[in-house]
Amino acid sequence: MELDARQRAMLEEMGIRVWTPMASAPADETALAKSSLRPSDGSRARVAAPSSPVERPVRAPVPMAAPAVPVGVTAPRALPTDIAAMDWDDLEAVVAGCQACGLCKSRKNTVFGVGHRQARWLIVGEAPGENEDLQGEPFVGQAGKLLDNMLKALGLARGADDAARAVYIANVLKCRPPGNRNPAPEEVLQCEPYLRRQVALLQPRIILAMGRFAVQSLLQHSLPDVATMPLGRLRGQVHSYEGVPVVVSYHPAYLLRTPQDKAKAWDDLCLAQSLMFDAGTS
Ligand code: SF4
Repeated sequence: MELDARQRAMLEEMGIRVWTPMASAPADETALAKSSLRPSDGSRARVAAPSSPVERPVRAPVPMAAPAVPVGVTAPRALPTDIAAMDWDDLEAVVAGCQACGLCKSRKNTVFGVGHRQARWLIVGEAPGENEDLQGEPFVGQAGKLLDNMLKALGLARGADDAARAVYIANVLKCRPPGNRNPAPEEVLQCEPYLRRQVALLQPRIILAMGRFAVQSLLQHSLPDVATMPLGRLRGQVHSYEGVPVVVSYHPAYLLRTPQDKAKAWDDLCLAQSLMFDAGTS
């Protein structure tokens, strides 16, 4: 079957090799072929197809449009402007796709928060660690077990159906800083509107801020120099975030490393619970 150049090119693209007579041969080889194949009677001979494939035609390269963002790099995008009007499901969906800071590049999962959405207690931690990033849930692993035990001592549980016994747990940052490094101030700033909306939706009676970055994020407006204040100096007082009482305590991961401070953390829990008693809601 005779194939034209276009058909041969298509078959080559599909991975089908096309064997056709050579278009030309060097002068000496042509002469050799002619002499060896010419019949002795001088008649014209039928020439068998040579066994070498035809070279693919060289096509001029087609210029490709350069991508706006290099492959593997995600450009930061602005936060939505209507966060303050979102309900829980919309907010969670927006966080799941958020690319407002560089942490979106290395996260495996966003860690939105977990618990009863009408809980009276809000526990605020700092940022997801490795296990949280893998599971998409805050306070898992050993630190999470310690937190669960602390809550249990108060008659609370993260999985409780009863709003009076339930807690909601969230972090200041919804994505893990690589290598568990400290959150950068600009990352906290970018992510803070999500926590603010969670507080507005939950309307908790008490916020327990656990760890330095949680405290700094929640109290930065009421205490402008909070970043320079040791956490120990902020304990034992009742602070405020968006009108909600805030009690400051140590992060459970710190307590695992510094068990001698667990007694102080218990004092903090008792202070928080006393506020609930005073409000007549515990
Ligand atoms: S840390 Fe917060 S602001 Fe940054 S990408 Fe994650 S959700 Fe968005």
